[in-house]
Amino acid sequence: MDKNGSRNKITLIGAGPAGSLLAIYLAKRGFHVEIYERRPDMRKTQISAGRSINLAISTRGIHALQEVGVLEAIMKIAVPMKGRMMHAVTGELTFQRYGKDDTEVIYAVLRSELSMALMNEAENHPDVRIHFNERCTGMDFKTGEVELHNEITEQARAIPTELVIGTDGSASAIRMDMLKAGRFNFSQQYLEHGYKELTILAGANGEYPIEKNALHIWPRKTYMLIALPNIDGSFACIFFFPFEGDPSFASLDNEEKVSNFFKTQFPDVVPLMPNLLENYFSNPTGAMVTITCAPWHIADRALLLGDAAHAIVPFFGQGVNCAFESCAYLAECIDKHGNDWPKVFTEFENLRKVNADAIAELALENFVEMRDHVADPKFLFKKKVEQALQQKYPAIFTPKYSMVTFHRLPYSVALSRGKIQDRILAELCGSIDRIEDLSWEKAEAMIKNELMPLSSLNK
Ligand SMILES: Cc1cc2nc3c(=O)[nH]c(=O)nc-3n(C[C@H](O)[C@H](O)[C@H](O)COP(=O)(O)OP(=O)(O)OC[C@H]3O[C@@H](n4cnc5c(N)ncnc54)[C@H](O)[C@@H]3O)c2cc1C
Repeated sequence: MDKNGSRNKITLIGAGPAGSLLAIYLAKRGFHVEIYERRPDMRKTQISAGRSINLAISTRGIHALQEVGVLEAIMKIAVPMKGRMMHAVTGELTFQRYGKDDTEVIYAVLRSELSMALMNEAENHPDVRIHFNERCTGMDFKTGEVELHNEITEQARAIPTELVIGTDGSASAIRMDMLKAGRFNFSQQYLEHGYKELTILAGANGEYPIEKNALHIWPRKTYMLIALPNIDGSFACIFFFPFEGDPSFASLDNEEKVSNFFKTQFPDVVPLMPNLLENYFSNPTGAMVTITCAPWHIADRALLLGDAAHAIVPFFGQGVNCAFESCAYLAECIDKHGNDWPKVFTEFENLRKVNADAIAELALENFVEMRDHVADPKFLFKKKVEQALQQKYPAIFTPKYSMVTFHRLPYSVALSRGKIQDRILAELCGSIDRIEDLSWEKAEAMIKNELMPLSSLNK
């Protein structure tokens, strides 16, 4: 503590994307930050699991990266994606733009590269130290003691802390102890689908074997494959597939079955994935979970942030973006209330909880859209009408995807406006399948009656 009794030292548990970015925000505000990370330093060691997952970074994440001055470093390892490229079984391609034009794009970046770049930036601050191979096994919220287990020496020890922020992801150890402390709401809901990382290799001279600036989707109703570009010409793919049933991870249990399945369902991908069978059988099958909990803090001792507070399924590409946005909000609360931690934590939670719940709901909804609806002609027609409405009423009508991805208005507003817009679209498109037959009079009346201009809500 300093001479005024204010706490200057903050302990973070977890040096994932949220922990490393938060450390930069805090160091810039004069705090001394100690981070304890369970894994070895990935800049020095090969860590296989999760290495090839590629994250889509959009406006909310970009805003936070820019605020702390690390955007330029991240953009060097990112590839812009202008829209979705859908691959039918027949090989037919359909491109659907994400934004209104090329100014609205999302960026693919390898999670491992992002984490390493943020760790480098964090450690550039003399006030940030990252301790690797230190697994947190619990916290005493009365004394502030944090228990650590060193993964190399196998030694356990307890360290004193003043204030702890759990940025330790969806299986947070800090959250586990909050749960034990009582009067803590918690829910976790697993999807029946799991995911597997696969890879499309770069061409012989580093060229991209499929369109570079797109997020590729092979939608197949109850399952899908997606591919995001890497800077070296390869693509990080994720295969989302049910755990059980037929077909499922359980049923595709030998090389012949996997090979035949991919040849039938994803014929254009197979020649681009020479390592398919090796990847399929050696990479782990990941589970996807939605976690909600409350409260996110205990007095002035501990706070949860990022996936530790709100893990969501990955289908809106917002987990990291939401966590980065939370870092920005927490910094604003600190700027407003200084070291009055109960006020900082309470305001932060009031601002973010409702929005974390909203993006959790939007992410679940988007799974069905990505794997099923994107190939449906009725859905594609609605998208056309949506675009036409956006062009005619740019100040009022903004597609749900854009509100989430290219704006910083609260996720809860995107969710509620999205529901109104879905109803308007359903009503306008119900009995027509040509844009020429759209009733503009009816559209105008509905839009102007039911929606306020977006500028009044944007942050
Ligand atoms: C398949 C998939 C695709 C995704 N795609 C996207 C996307 O396109 N866009 C997007 O924005 N988000 C995406 N996400 C979500 C994103 O990965 C997470 O939201 C994000 O990683 C959360 O960051 P975090 O720092 O809060 O947690 P994590 O990334 O989980 O980091 C937590 C850190 O804490 C460490 N840790 C854990 N437990 C302990 C402990 N007990 N002690 C010490 N350290 C500990 C971990 O080793 C890790 O380094 C995706 C997720 C998945 C699974």
